[in-house]
Amino acid sequence: MTLLAQFEKGKLLSTLSTLGIGGPAKYFIEVASVEKMQEVLRFCYLEKIPYIVIGKGSNSLFDDRGFGGLVILNKITFCTFGECIVHVGAGYSFSLLGAQTARKGWSGLEFASGIPATVGGAVYMNAGANGKETVESLKSIDYITEEGDLVCLPKEDLEFSYRFSSFQKMKGAIVGATFELSPSLEAREQQIKIIEYRSKTQPLKDKSAGCIFRNPSPYSAGHLIEKSGLKGHSVGGAQVSDKHANFIINKGHATAQDVFALAIKIKKTVKEKTGIDLEMEIRLIPYVNISS
Ligand SMILES: Cc1cc2nc3c(=O)[nH]c(=O)nc-3n(C[C@H](O)[C@H](O)[C@H](O)COP(=O)(O)OP(=O)(O)OC[C@H]3O[C@@H](n4cnc5c(N)ncnc54)[C@H](O)[C@@H]3O)c2cc1C
Repeated sequence: MTLLAQFEKGKLLSTLSTLGIGGPAKYFIEVASVEKMQEVLRFCYLEKIPYIVIGKGSNSLFDDRGFGGLVILNKITFCTFGECIVHVGAGYSFSLLGAQTARKGWSGLEFASGIPATVGGAVYMNAGANGKETVESLKSIDYITEEGDLVCLPKEDLEFSYRFSSFQKMKGAIVGATFELSPSLEAREQQIKIIEYRSKTQPLKDKSAGCIFRNPSPYSAGHLIEKSGLKGHSVGGAQVSDKHANFIINKGHATAQDVFALAIKIKKTVKEKTGIDLEMEIRLIPYVNISS
């Protein structure tokens, strides 16, 4: 069977996003091994098929028309623990990794607990919380290049900053990561505190993509949005959460257009009221059209 015949057609991206939004993917495939990811990327390279690799879809706003190329769902979930070191597949749950390492008394990823991401998505976004970022305990990344070659990249060869990694400028797939942690008697207690605080302050029962805007240092975007009187404000089915103003929630029937229009309205109002320009944190995944 050729690879093209293995692609599913019309998979709804709303089922792959924590916001519950997005039209059909022209092609879709779930990839559970590094070798399969190499084969798929090589095929896309040779056949010139545009693709996107996704994890839990917890930071992505898919287009209402869907995606006109191949959507690759990363399900590579191996996990090997050494002494304060862990080598993990990019499709592994970042939240679970945070809880497991803290339970072992290892510090560095306590903040990951409760972030509904894959390890690959967290590395790509340099996810962070509670003053910590993914890059801090990262040692190296297993990466498949656009041409389908597997390489191991030490973190020193890459750039990371607030919600940014070099991967945002590259074309390929993160397939694994190695983290180096440090022993700590407080790791588990710290992780429990983080998860308790998260459930008190974030609308975890609603569909969202986490924080819509980056925090414009030294301010909190949520505080600026709240100060601008926007809590509860809505466009169509998209609403500014009453619990955390930097979250837009899907009230059940929101479209990508609703979320986008509400984000623009927030940006404009905050600029008028505070003079501060907010920058989007979520990834807008545009529709890409291909003929074949
Ligand atoms: C309730 C809630 C709470 C959140 N809290 C936080 C928080 O505290 N801190 C924080 O930083 N974020 C938070 N987020 C946002 C989100 O969880 C993170 O940005 C996370 O890192 C995204 O991971 P993902 O696997 O869902 O990525 P996706 O949304 O699937 O993808 C995000 C981007 O990464 C790319 N990508 C994903 N996997 C790969 C891969 N293997 N190879 C190449 N590219 C890839 C995608 O193409 C896309 O551009 C929260 C979200 C929600 C819904």
